[in-house]
Amino acid sequence: MRRPLIAGNWKMNTTINEGVALAKGLVDFSKTLNKDRDILICVPFTALYAIKQVVDGSKVRLGAQNMYFEEKGAFTGEISPVMLQDIGVDYVLIGHSERRQYFNETDELLNKKIKAALSHNLKPILCVGETLEQREKKIEKETIKKQIVNGLLGISADEMKKITVAYEPIWAIGTGKTATSEQAQEMILYIRNILKDIYGEEISDNTIIQYGGSVKGQNASEIMSKSDIDGALVGGASLKLEDFIQIISY
Ligand code: PEP
Repeated sequence: MRRPLIAGNWKMNTTINEGVALAKGLVDFSKTLNKDRDILICVPFTALYAIKQVVDGSKVRLGAQNMYFEEKGAFTGEISPVMLQDIGVDYVLIGHSERRQYFNETDELLNKKIKAALSHNLKPILCVGETLEQREKKIEKETIKKQIVNGLLGISADEMKKITVAYEPIWAIGTGKTATSEQAQEMILYIRNILKDIYGEEISDNTIIQYGGSVKGQNASEIMSKSDIDGALVGGASLKLEDFIQIISY
């Protein structure tokens, strides 16, 4: 019913040539993959156009890691949904914890970005996650609920069909610390239930909810075996072709 989505987030890594080489390797691999899953790479803005030429017509989808919500204008340094659409980007990460943490992105801003992405036919991946401190204070669920409810404010059920959610506990990102599959399953089920309250059972049952946080070839199968986890958002391990292939092949 829900097709797993394995997404790589390259973050601020790769030159154009490095990115093209990695994407070519992935496209070659994807031709041999006979498992039912979607593959996505979210690459730096500078490499989007070149990599689009590589992945075009293949099973590999292309994503950006961020965007601004305005279409154009005096917003020096920003990239608009129109520009991403022009390249032929399929997905865009919205609210990755590094954006929230280092660039002060708020739920209110992210909500505007989601709406802008949708109105330009880009599929948003809304990233949510709690800090270690919030988990230790046992406020991880209310933190996630706030991020989901405020991030999705004013989004219709029809629009929700185009949105993916990624649960990424901040304490597990780039730290080598993975949430246990039980912790990930528990929170993702919690998110699914929030979506059920807002949008009803059908939308909730059909929404792809990924786990992210130190996913590797060695732990991918265990994480993906959980009933509510529909794939992974992978940082570090998506930068090495063999490692990412191992995760995709779980
Ligand atoms: C991420 O960047 O979304 C991520 C989960 O990173 P890592 O896999 O390196 O923890």
